Amino acid sequence: MEEGQGFDRLSPNGNKAMSNYRIQGATGEWEVVIGLEVHAQVTSNAKLFSGAPTAFGAEPNTQVSLIDAAMPGMLPVPNRECIRQAVRTGMAINAVINKWSRFDRKNYFYADLPQGYQISQLYHPLVGEGVITVQLDEKDPDSEVKEIGVERIHVEQDAGKLMHDQHPTRSYVDLNRSGVALMEIVSRPDMRSPQEAGAYLTKLRSILRYVGSCDGNMDQGSMRADVNVSVRKPGGELGTRTETKNVNSVRFVMQAIEQEAQRQVDVLESGGRIVQETRLFDPDKGETRSMRSKEDAHDYRYFPDPDLLPLVLDDAFLDECRATLPELPDAKRGRYESELGLSAYNAAVLTADADTARWFEALLAESARVQKKGEAEVAKAASNWLISELFGALNRLGKDIEDSPVSPERGAELLGLIGDGTISGSIAKQVLEIMLETGDAPAKIVEEKGLKQTSDTGAIEAEIAKVLEANPDKVADYRGGKDKLFGFFVGQTMKAMQGKANPQVVNELLKKALG
Ligand code: ADP
Ligand code: MG
Repeated sequence: MEEGQGFDRLSPNGNKAMSNYRIQGATGEWEVVIGLEVHAQVTSNAKLFSGAPTAFGAEPNTQVSLIDAAMPGMLPVPNRECIRQAVRTGMAINAVINKWSRFDRKNYFYADLPQGYQISQLYHPLVGEGVITVQLDEKDPDSEVKEIGVERIHVEQDAGKLMHDQHPTRSYVDLNRSGVALMEIVSRPDMRSPQEAGAYLTKLRSILRYVGSCDGNMDQGSMRADVNVSVRKPGGELGTRTETKNVNSVRFVMQAIEQEAQRQVDVLESGGRIVQETRLFDPDKGETRSMRSKEDAHDYRYFPDPDLLPLVLDDAFLDECRATLPELPDAKRGRYESELGLSAYNAAVLTADADTARWFEALLAESARVQKKGEAEVAKAASNWLISELFGALNRLGKDIEDSPVSPERGAELLGLIGDGTISGSIAKQVLEIMLETGDAPAKIVEEKGLKQTSDTGAIEAEIAKVLEANPDKVADYRGGKDKLFGFFVGQTMKAMQGKANPQVVNELLKKALG
């Protein structure tokens, strides 16, 4: 993008509002326009232009090479892995990959930037236009789907960190982050509501994690968003925007948009005008406040970095990047529906993040093996169990799927016991609870606790007789036509059998007894 070129157009889908989010003012309704610039730290053991390590949480200034400290005469050398990850990310959003790109110096003075400039890419970014498809509510398969344009992804260095809370009168500088590779993923101003922006960010994070190019941990700062917001009368010209910097959670991004859009409407409605400025989000107050008037690109005196040659990629490198792309969330979601026959809801939930999908696929493979069936045959039961039983339990324990105390192999054993009729679904809930506590194999638990399901008709009939005897009026009502009461008798009989009766046998015997 050339210096000074603004946004005078929306991408083709820009006008198709996914949610009719409007702010009501005295002079009518206002539409909100949002564009996000996401800084994503590239997953790489070494920095963008030096060999220094990038581990999170290291002692201050222990991961700083002479290059990162900007010692005179040091020369940057691009790290192939960082470029590879950015290219793979571009491919994952169907973006144009520019085989010829170049690094520029963005000049400014700040104590956390020893070079006095950041090496970035303004004029010729590595990745050009792409697109991210988002669904307003991923958990609701009927909610609206929209394509959000990505204008570019460029690669740049991170700065160091100033620490103001270490000493009463001094500030310190930690250069561990100095020179770490970032991808700046710049969206088009295509979003129209806080929800859309939240969905975009969630989807982008999901894609980055699938690709493995960024860990997406917003709370550790490895992904942060600059939130550009403007308001306008629906369909009118784009308004002046403000940019709220470094917002570090999806929820905060949504809050910042809501609050900032409302503020702009208030200013405009009271006859004021919006100043293009940089703002800060205060998570405690849930509001944005002015930081500085916004600088333009020319303020930075960008120019091509004379220490670096243009970056030229060959086809072999691009092929290698493409070959290592995993199946991405949308493709996986489609396949779960078409090949495995999962509901749209289950497919959406299981593909929303890479760890969940990986866990599910291990469970599926293992279940098919244990039950000697095809994956499609066991997929429905496995997906339902994972979503309603294991997710529920993990939620209560406050654990993520990667930290599940129950492995996919153990889960598959449990599903096998349900599948072959050894235990019922309700007993399986009890068995899961014990598995979570003890880590024991489900078969062992079922054996030791005597939880095997019984089809012993004699025992079941005896309990049915007692249930009918204890409820003569309900029996009469049922026989008089109140069919719904059948469930009551099933429940009572199962309870009497401590959940261990084969439900199918209970049904049959009850029908006979109630005649
Ligand atoms: P800069 O690099 O100075 O922040 P850009 O022109 O690269 O500026 O735009 C940055 C972001 O601002 C992009 O994500 C873009 O979508 C968004 N944006 C541009 N114009 C508007 C606008 N009028 N309202 C909301 N967002 C906007
Ligand atoms: Mg910006």
